[in-house]
Amino acid sequence: MPNYKTHLVLGLVFVVIAIVIAYYFGFGNFFEFGDSWKLYIFAVGVTLLYSILPDLDIKTSKAFLLISFCLLAFIIFCFLKNEIIFGIISASVLILMLFLQHRGRIHSFLAALLFSIPIIFVSWTLAIVGFLAYASHLIADGEIK
Ligand SMILES: [Zn+2]
Repeated sequence: MPNYKTHLVLGLVFVVIAIVIAYYFGFGNFFEFGDSWKLYIFAVGVTLLYSILPDLDIKTSKAFLLISFCLLAFIIFCFLKNEIIFGIISASVLILMLFLQHRGRIHSFLAALLFSIPIIFVSWTLAIVGFLAYASHLIADGEIK
């Protein structure tokens, strides 16, 4: 079972190879980075996050610690700003995370798709990059489902 550092490196390598192959076969327009360097920075960030995200189902993983810390901060922020509904939704997500079974539903291509879809609202390119990075984790784990 690869550790998180291996997943980070494999994620970056996998995404870069996928982009090179896409350009080679004329599908480069799926990766419209434009002239903005910010999109490249975001793409690296999304790749790093999404290549370890499936291990959200391990309570001691970096992904779990990172996401639960962010959720906790967001929950506190919501309650301070009187956004009770968002606070309750976030708390529910955090509680659900505690009950995830390792290499269960989160380690699947359906989860890769579901986690990548929200990024479409930011950028299609980033959503595809997120999906590829997530997929790289599944392939490295040998969890093709
Ligand atoms: Zn994994």
